[in-house]
Amino acid sequence: AGSEVVPAQKLADADALIDSVETFIFDCDGVIWKGDSLIEGVPETLELLRSKGKRLVFVTNNSTKSRKQYGKKFETLGLSVNEEEIFASSFAAAAYLQSIDFPKDKKIYVIGEEGILIELELAGFSYLGGPEDGGKKIELKPGFYMEHDENVGAVVVGFDRYFNYYKVQYGTLCIRENPGCLFLATNRDAVTHLTDAQEWAGGGSMVGALVGSTQREPTTVGKPSTFMMDYLANKFGITKSQICMVGDRLDTDILFGQNGGCKTLLVLSGVTSLSMLQNPNNSIQPDFYTNQISDFLSLKAA
Ligand code: PLP
Ligand code: CA
Repeated sequence: AGSEVVPAQKLADADALIDSVETFIFDCDGVIWKGDSLIEGVPETLELLRSKGKRLVFVTNNSTKSRKQYGKKFETLGLSVNEEEIFASSFAAAAYLQSIDFPKDKKIYVIGEEGILIELELAGFSYLGGPEDGGKKIELKPGFYMEHDENVGAVVVGFDRYFNYYKVQYGTLCIRENPGCLFLATNRDAVTHLTDAQEWAGGGSMVGALVGSTQREPTTVGKPSTFMMDYLANKFGITKSQICMVGDRLDTDILFGQNGGCKTLLVLSGVTSLSMLQNPNNSIQPDFYTNQISDFLSLKAA
């Protein structure tokens, strides 16, 4: 038998939790918004935390937008959040490459959408690929040979609604023909909620295709990997035990917080239901759970 997993506690005293940390890291989809709709009570909750002097940081695995584009999204939803407080997995890919001094004279092949391209460009990297790449079907005449740029030193894979077979082949050539080529994944989420009517295949599906063809495992820069947590702790000078990670997913958000040694709070306003949390097969238990973050406004010790 493995070590006992302590079941999550229902949050009863929000003030005690708030007082016990200096920083809150919020996941976005399922916590702050659902798709394009703001979750109720969020503006007042963020205001309360700011008035108590808490540092607020927002982390999303959705790589389709840049941090600047997320800044606009927060603004559109009526939330005053600074770009510098937002960490999307698109930004994480660029920050990771910077952190390892990835040579500026090498190129990066991107399977993914605009967010990744914008962040790579802002960081001064040159890339090829992106949503438009390989969109046209290639006619496979006898003898057709796909050339690839041998100066590609990294392949970055994120969520890509323009994904196709020729992108897989190109990325595979870059990785297979150059053993030193890096293979990065922005995130490996199995599902996303493009619409609220059903679950859609997530960024993990695109990454999985390249894992299948290259037989290599990527370095993930988004949640639950420790890269972003280390980056944030370093950037803001935060002690990880002084952080509470708030999210709606067990295998990305809560694991991200636990991998970082943070306190963790699961909200039931997103993809995880109480029965999923309490399922005996689930071994990921946050410290606390509550319905939504606006419970911070009402939950007081008896
Ligand atoms: N990736 C994509 C493409 C998404 O659409 C979403 C959510 O909408 C996510 C990832 C997960 O985002 P978050 O980490 O903010 O929950
Ligand atoms: Ca989420």
